Amino acid sequence: MNCSLLIKNGRVVTEEGTLSADVFIEEGKIVHIGKSGEEDKAEKVIDVKGQFVLPGFIDPHVHFNDPGLTNSEDFYTGTSAAAAGGVTTVLEHPLTFPLPDNLKAFNEKKEIAESKAVVDFGLFGACSEKNQGEMKQMMESGASAFKTFLTYSPEIPKLDDGQITERMAFLADKDVILAIHCENNDIVNYYTNEMRCLGRTKPEDYPDGRPEISEIEAVSRMTLFAQETGCKVNIAHCTLQAAVNIVDDRRRNGADVSVETCPQYLLLNRTMLPELGVFGICNPPLRREEEVSKLWDCIFDGKIDWICSDHATYTVEEKMEGREDIFKTPAGVTSVELCCQLFFSEGVMKRGLSIEAFADLTSTNAAKRYNLYPQKGHIAVGADADIAILNPEEIWTVDDKSLKQMMKWSPYNGMEVRGKITKTIVNGIEAYDGKEVIAEKGSGRFIAPVRKVK
Ligand SMILES: [Zn+2]
Repeated sequence: MNCSLLIKNGRVVTEEGTLSADVFIEEGKIVHIGKSGEEDKAEKVIDVKGQFVLPGFIDPHVHFNDPGLTNSEDFYTGTSAAAAGGVTTVLEHPLTFPLPDNLKAFNEKKEIAESKAVVDFGLFGACSEKNQGEMKQMMESGASAFKTFLTYSPEIPKLDDGQITERMAFLADKDVILAIHCENNDIVNYYTNEMRCLGRTKPEDYPDGRPEISEIEAVSRMTLFAQETGCKVNIAHCTLQAAVNIVDDRRRNGADVSVETCPQYLLLNRTMLPELGVFGICNPPLRREEEVSKLWDCIFDGKIDWICSDHATYTVEEKMEGREDIFKTPAGVTSVELCCQLFFSEGVMKRGLSIEAFADLTSTNAAKRYNLYPQKGHIAVGADADIAILNPEEIWTVDDKSLKQMMKWSPYNGMEVRGKITKTIVNGIEAYDGKEVIAEKGSGRFIAPVRKVK
């Protein structure tokens, strides 16, 4: 067989199991999986002996700040970091300006991203107070899903419970997901204020301003709304076993709810905050150490649908605004490049997660949920040739300075990682060669979901 790219001697992770095989790629698609022989001709051959050939990672929750906040990230630097981390598709969430809560802003953002991205991407639309008609148009224009926040931020309109149930009822018959940032606004405001009154404004005080109950209550309420309205909901960046168990219960009662978590809640905990300072501040906040191990139990119990980075960055100066009062720090941590490698190191190498479960959690499950499958999310004949090649033998240390993202900080600097991405293939083309991102700016494509119901 003739092909443009042949990936030889890999441990190919498919939905049917892991095979010793070669992967044949032609015109951006996987055309054959098997053993190559003398008669096979490839324009380019990559020998990956001993390494995992994984479905390209899908990070369904990133913020790339473009347009509006491109002093700290843009679609080129964000997707370059993604490519260096084995991520071949990102779904980008609104925290961009103008807010994509209308068709015009959504389409403008799509154009900007198309001109800069080096991996494939989808875009979330935002919910705002009176944009129901615009939501329908954004869906038709290919919005991956919609996002709403329950906590107030000056930039993004917070919807109240009435508006959210109305929005859920509207989306219920449309095969589109509403992703929700779940923290109870009243509880967060009350405790943040209390902490300030007590003069507790150091990094280690931050989690007490956003206590666990605020997340558990919000997850309980939103999953109840999902159950009652029939809307498909995704619980964004869940941090607690108690909240995951609520999702699990509601699912048993017919709610169509998925739940994700992030490396910051699986590798970091609040005792690290004095050292991490402003660079460990995210919402929801880092939790107690014992909660981290309970969250791992949820992974092994199959109760969490996927891992995402929730990559959200600011300039060092912006983060340092919270030096005196931690509650002034803009919340967010970076990890689009590190997310799946950290999860491999900790999950597969240290805790014994199977490589097949790893592929489900980093690619397949999110592809299915967001209607990108079978084009994305697995290694199979006919699928897009999006591939992450990972060497499990390589041990390396995170060095923030070498990250491809625009801002060279993360909460993982100096952490030892077992397993490294050595190549990333996007649509059959090498996008990352193990050292540098070699994909052309603008080579990433906009990917619209294929909905079962229009
Ligand atoms: Zn987010």
